[in-house]
Amino acid sequence: MTDIQQARLMVGTDLARRLTESSAAAAADILRRTGTAPCLATVLVGEDPASVTYVRMKRARCEQAGILSRQVVLPASVSTAGLVETVGALSADPEVHGILLQHPVGAHIDERAAFEAIAPEKDVDGVTMHSFAAMGFGLPGFVSCTPGGIMRLLDEYGVGLTGKHAVVVGRSAILGKPVGMLLLGRDATVTYCHSRTADLSSIVRQADVLVAAVGRPRFITGADIKPGAVVIDAGYNPGNVGDVDFETARLRASLITPVPGGVGPMTIAVLLAQTVEAATRQLGLG
Ligand code: NAP
Repeated sequence: MTDIQQARLMVGTDLARRLTESSAAAAADILRRTGTAPCLATVLVGEDPASVTYVRMKRARCEQAGILSRQVVLPASVSTAGLVETVGALSADPEVHGILLQHPVGAHIDERAAFEAIAPEKDVDGVTMHSFAAMGFGLPGFVSCTPGGIMRLLDEYGVGLTGKHAVVVGRSAILGKPVGMLLLGRDATVTYCHSRTADLSSIVRQADVLVAAVGRPRFITGADIKPGAVVIDAGYNPGNVGDVDFETARLRASLITPVPGGVGPMTIAVLLAQTVEAATRQLGLG
């Protein structure tokens, strides 16, 4: 009887914990040297339960890492001008080093205008056009947190990217597009797929590195995975289910991220790391 080969897991929880420990050590060092702790401002519009939970989790993780958090809660009825003014004031406040505007912010608000009120040096969530352009040009800057977490996971597990065919399923501004840009910046050959892609399966089957960022439970199954591929499942659907059918995919892939415990924990860890980096620069330490 032959053993069925199963992919090795890319464990985000472990890497995220180590990254957060190093952010905590850096935050303590900043406090010791300057008397100031790094500070992340979170801006929440309305009371959407998922957004409230995300912001609470992010603030709790900040606290554990010795990063101050300042919470601003605005009513769901706030106007674009009101939100832009609030974010602009945080951008100008020297005690705030990073700004996280939790989205979605409500359909009546011009979300892009609100994001653009974040000063580039405080854009630790990587949501401004400045950060997006820096990612595109391969210049230093803050990256979108989930794509940044994915790149760190690939590096942690020694995945070579040069000349590899990376297929990204999804093209959102916070996830699909930037992760493709970062993969391209590392010399992968990148193909994007989206809802209008013809014959998606045949493209996915060519992937040496597959990033699933679709938002549809178990959308990609093992039958579509090239044997030996590296599979990154960024999806997070109700019931802790990813965008990849884990049980069939793990029989074909060489490396795979579980859901939960793969990409998910990396997002907040990168947010904290970028907040500490922002404070380091703004306080003239590096
Ligand atoms: P999104 O904005 O809804 O984008 C989904 C993308 O998938 C779009 O580009 C869409 O194509 C594409 N798509 C949808 N249906 C498709 C289909 N049938 N065939 C091919 N492509 C299809 O979602 P997102 O914000 O990028 O998030 C994607 C997933 O990642 C979600 O499960 C989300 O929960 C998860 N996520 C996780 C984290 C984390 O921290 N782990 C962070 C962010 C997001 P079109 O552009 O053509 O519409």
